[in-house]
Amino acid sequence: MTATTSNDECVLKWCNEAGDHDEHRQYVTSLVAWRSTWLIGVNIVQSDGEPLHVELTATTRWSPPATVTLKPDEAEAVAQALLEAATRAVR
Ligand SMILES: [Zn+2]
Repeated sequence: MTATTSNDECVLKWCNEAGDHDEHRQYVTSLVAWRSTWLIGVNIVQSDGEPLHVELTATTRWSPPATVTLKPDEAEAVAQALLEAATRAVR
């Protein structure tokens, strides 16, 4: 036994996961959408030595979560399209 208490925080400072995990993850945002039926999440993920990716999750109360893993440039393209669509929708 050591004098220190057990620390299950990840060695990577940016990672929000605790305990044993295969994928490092930083939770960037999560928000409730569309008549409070969807939970949308945006995370940064990294598995074993791979480059960082962007993870988009969509969950309802009634279905398993859908997860899309995107390369940074793909995430930017999706973000651009969302912005453009939102701009047109409020016009
Ligand atoms: Zn981690």
